[in-house]
Amino acid sequence: MEIRLREVFRLKTERLYWSDPMGREFEARIVEIARLQGSRIGLILDRTLFHPEGGGQPADRGFLTLLSEEAVALFGRSDLGVQEVYEEGERIVHIISAERFPDCLPPDVPQAPEGGWPVKGAIDWEYRFDLMQQHTGQHILSRAFEELASARTVGFHLGKDYVSIDLSIGSLSDGQRDKVEERANQVVFQDLPVTGREYPKGRLPEGVRSRFQIDAESIRIVSVGDYDLCPCGGTHVTSTGQVGLIKINQVDRAHGGVRVIFRCGRRALTDYREKERLLGQASSALSVPPGDVPRAVEQALARLRDAEKELQDVREALLDSEIETRLRALSGSGEPFTVQVFETLEGDRLKYAARKMSESLGKITVCAALAPKFSAVVISPAGAPDAREVLSRISARWGGRGGGTPSFAQLGAKEPLVAASQAVKSSIEEILRSL
Ligand SMILES: [Zn+2]
Repeated sequence: MEIRLREVFRLKTERLYWSDPMGREFEARIVEIARLQGSRIGLILDRTLFHPEGGGQPADRGFLTLLSEEAVALFGRSDLGVQEVYEEGERIVHIISAERFPDCLPPDVPQAPEGGWPVKGAIDWEYRFDLMQQHTGQHILSRAFEELASARTVGFHLGKDYVSIDLSIGSLSDGQRDKVEERANQVVFQDLPVTGREYPKGRLPEGVRSRFQIDAESIRIVSVGDYDLCPCGGTHVTSTGQVGLIKINQVDRAHGGVRVIFRCGRRALTDYREKERLLGQASSALSVPPGDVPRAVEQALARLRDAEKELQDVREALLDSEIETRLRALSGSGEPFTVQVFETLEGDRLKYAARKMSESLGKITVCAALAPKFSAVVISPAGAPDAREVLSRISARWGGRGGGTPSFAQLGAKEPLVAASQAVKSSIEEILRSL
């Protein structure tokens, strides 16, 4: 993203989110206005509580309230929603919702007066506190994985719903996972102080955990009591107790390593509540206490499998009996072929019926089903017309596609055939007589 800024501006935005991590409101001055691509407006303040997007953490959200009449006149209102925040060198750019601003602002980006315009800012505290819980929880969990599973954190993602870290190990046992989770929560219960401090390059304290080569002039190190030290520019709660529960939810294999999905604080509570609700639903549907749900589901599945097998057996017996009935009705027929049309029969069972009837009669046999999808099977003994030829004529008259060999061919359509079975039967008999 390219910013057209005044050339000589060399401001460094003071990062209040580091010095005052629990701050929700602040006063500052707008010292620069920039028109960005897509008619968006960026404001640069001398100090800010808005954390920019970066390091795996999303940007803060919130509002800026203009306190200068001149600025209100220029923007056409006093409250500006902050949509996006990012870092541009040492400055932090606040992107404000700007659909209407291009009309208000003069074509040239206006310049803030000497000393800037006073502004009040308020961050969306609930949103930020959630991010701080997740982010601090991640520091603790990453250290616990190093300590107990020799697993380094090589990736971190803080999403809207869950948080994930990628670990440098090939696999993680359930036992290891539980031990790490236990340890991380112990650190929470100890309510250790969480602090951030800048160190000059080359004078970092001992034991810093890092996934990057550190080469900045000054490095901010976040410490969790004496349990963990890690370079980080994000926002964190001020003591581990504020993280609340740290709960590992899932362990997956990813990119040759292990991805751990977890939730902290209120997210863990919300997730727990939802899972309890789901378990409650399953438990009442099965009429068993929650602890018996897995066994009850297994039993229900076993009963279902038995019932399906039984249904299958009954269907086969029914089909056998129908084939017998049809064969009896055919005895004494002088035709050199037989055509049988079924209202509803699945493909495999239609094939079974055709084979059975053809074996019994020794004539060219055509079985067709109108539903669930139109299908036909042609079985042609030696000396009888080519089954493929019969099939292609049926297909030309009634649709469907297929193929086969001179002795066996089948076709299927995507839809059921809406026609009287007697009409289909007569037309196929006609085809066979004509060959
Ligand atoms: Zn951090």
